[in-house]
Amino acid sequence: MKDTSCNAMWEKLNLDLEAHDGLLEVLGKFYGDIYLSQAGRLQGMEYLDFVLSEIHGLRVQELQAAKQGGRKVVGAFCVFVPEELVLAADAICVGLCAGVEAGKEAVEKILPRNTCALIKSFVGFKLARLCPFTESCDLIVGETTCDGKKKAYETFSEYAPLYVMEIPQMKMASDRALWKAEIIRFKDRVEALTGNKIRGGALNESIRIVNERRRVLQRLNHLRAAVPAPISGRDVLLVNQVSFYDDPLRFTQKIRELCDQLEVRVESGEGIVPKGTPRLMLSGCPMAVPNWKLPYLVESSGAVIVGEESCVGTRNTRDLVDEDAPALDGMIDAIVDRYMKIDCACFTPNKERLEHVVGMARELGVDGVIHYTLSFCQPYAMEALKVEKVLQQAGIPFLNIETDYSMEDVEQLKTRVEAFVEMVS
Ligand code: SF4
Ligand code: SF4
Repeated sequence: MKDTSCNAMWEKLNLDLEAHDGLLEVLGKFYGDIYLSQAGRLQGMEYLDFVLSEIHGLRVQELQAAKQGGRKVVGAFCVFVPEELVLAADAICVGLCAGVEAGKEAVEKILPRNTCALIKSFVGFKLARLCPFTESCDLIVGETTCDGKKKAYETFSEYAPLYVMEIPQMKMASDRALWKAEIIRFKDRVEALTGNKIRGGALNESIRIVNERRRVLQRLNHLRAAVPAPISGRDVLLVNQVSFYDDPLRFTQKIRELCDQLEVRVESGEGIVPKGTPRLMLSGCPMAVPNWKLPYLVESSGAVIVGEESCVGTRNTRDLVDEDAPALDGMIDAIVDRYMKIDCACFTPNKERLEHVVGMARELGVDGVIHYTLSFCQPYAMEALKVEKVLQQAGIPFLNIETDYSMEDVEQLKTRVEAFVEMVS
């Protein structure tokens, strides 16, 4: 993944070149071991391999070229940020990954040690000057989803151009009204940033673009549910991760091609694993790129992952924005309604998520569910107990995993995962 031809660009972005080289080297090795070592991958995955090999190269060059042409780049950490509004103002939206330990020592001087790994990671990337996406952003959008994030943003705002959206915590009419006001406030902010007024035609177009990306991911999820599983869970997770920062039109086209290949494989009854391989589903916290630790452990323990109930999974693709609203006001309402359906653990109560977990596990015919919580994430840790209860009632085996981005617990996790796979086999 090391590409010195980009050094001038990274230097201009004020990256710490030495540390950045080290990061790319580790990532490259990690990717080779976890991804390129898989047998029987579809040809369409070569595009994802290419994107990952150029993770800090070509896409960042594209962003820089767009910025030179006057476009703005907006970064986000959460699926609550309405990308449709960003695109409609002719800006570019990128997900900021936060899936690996970065700048830990510096972070723990300004945030409590017992903060979740995702939060420490995005602050760490900034402090350690390691992420060309973060450094390319004209605006970074935070959200008041959990207490950890909202307090960390106060600190983060000292280092980056930050805007924070207030996310409701309940789903009553008054919460919808609050969320609508926040969507309008965000629209105003994006218009001020770009100097472009968002009009109905452009918003309708961007709603369709983002919906198309969700549709192709829905199609992928539908195809991968076949028995035997035609694609590894790791590969589908990667597709979901890349969806956050690739160009949406190109990404949708490439995943369409991947789905076409997958369809042929499913029709021929071929699998990436033999029939009878235990089918597991992951549920819980998002796994931002390059957080592949648990999926790798699961799939190297003789199971295959057939679904991700998470924000880097079905929580982000399940619902579409209504495309038929005739005017700008109606489109804003459609966006408000679609995003209010997100069943993040930050909501109370959050019965929908429990229904989704059970529904998805039944639909996919899984042999078990692994609940994944990042250490110190209270919302998902609390909900893990509820998820366990509803799955128990549904007769579906459950394993609760709490971990972070370090590799210290890999052996212990592997033992637990292997025992679970054996139990459900
Ligand atoms: S889990 Fe909640 S806070 Fe995290 S990305 Fe998803 S919606 Fe946002
Ligand atoms: S994983 Fe949990 S604690 Fe961490 S940012 Fe997301 S909701 Fe907050």
